Amino acid sequence: MSNPGIEINGIKIFPGQNLTIDLPVARLYTHTPMTMPIHVINGKKGGPRLFVSAAIHGDEINGVEIIRRLIKLPALKRLQGCLIAVPIVNVYGLVQHSRYLPDRRDLNRSFPGSDKGSLTARLANLFMTEIVENCTHGIDLHTGALHRDNLPHIRGNLDHDETGKMAHAFGVPVMLNADVRDGSLRQVAADQKIPFLVYEAGEALRFDEVCIRAGLRGIIEVMRHLEMIPPSKRKHARKVFDPVVARSSTWVRAPVSGILRVTAALGARVHKDSVLGVIADPFGEKETQVTATAGGVIIGRLKLPLVNEGDALFHIARFEKADSVAARVEEFHNTYQENL
Ligand SMILES: [Zn+2]
Repeated sequence: MSNPGIEINGIKIFPGQNLTIDLPVARLYTHTPMTMPIHVINGKKGGPRLFVSAAIHGDEINGVEIIRRLIKLPALKRLQGCLIAVPIVNVYGLVQHSRYLPDRRDLNRSFPGSDKGSLTARLANLFMTEIVENCTHGIDLHTGALHRDNLPHIRGNLDHDETGKMAHAFGVPVMLNADVRDGSLRQVAADQKIPFLVYEAGEALRFDEVCIRAGLRGIIEVMRHLEMIPPSKRKHARKVFDPVVARSSTWVRAPVSGILRVTAALGARVHKDSVLGVIADPFGEKETQVTATAGGVIIGRLKLPLVNEGDALFHIARFEKADSVAARVEEFHNTYQENL
């Protein structure tokens, strides 16, 4: 297949060319210029055009490290198609250690955006026109929000056949099927029929080595599935975990305000009414149990022990066979923790 090349910010990237582009975004009010860094690796031969993006929420940095490792991959010398790596989409948020933009909007609720809208809407629009519309496939990397830890999992719209195939190739044990109308990148990718995955793993403002390794491996497996890079020749490659799709998920909220002691781990199998933790006053005199509102596997949890009544504490995904999912999650963690 011949490679027609690709054009970003008016710059043509020819077949066989690697290029870093600093895409201009709105200046700071100090008049300091701001740019979104983009690394394009264009194979000599044509093929899928895959974007991999991170830090759409500016404090979610595991994906920044995943992309740093990804673009050093020796197999990219034989790339077919084009890899467009965008390690920091929300550059304003990253500088401020913030999920949001300076106008306090959430970029992942502002797609597809518009060039006449708010600062956030303009950034969304720029990402759509320069990146998404140039691509045939996409992977967006996220973590839990501030003080929230996510079990590595995939989110995507399984009504889309190729998205399901990419999710299976990615190889983490849990997947949430989501058909959302929330202004997320996932929604607009689904609207435009672009096969698209969200990888959720770890917590904001922290690196987590298991999450980073599993994410990197997942992207490599998706690129192999898309035949962008050759199959692995390693005999003892790490196992790929076929994902089990959750039927639904729910958050357990704090019944009272106080100080939380957690007893249930991320990835644990829980049953309805299982005790997940205890909330106490500072003297430990009045204690209230936090119990599961549904059975399933814990895929997200709050790490900050200081909670207000109503705060979301545990994210539980429901499965047909939750026992086997929990066993796979444990095997997955053991696999990626090797040599850590
Ligand atoms: Zn996020």
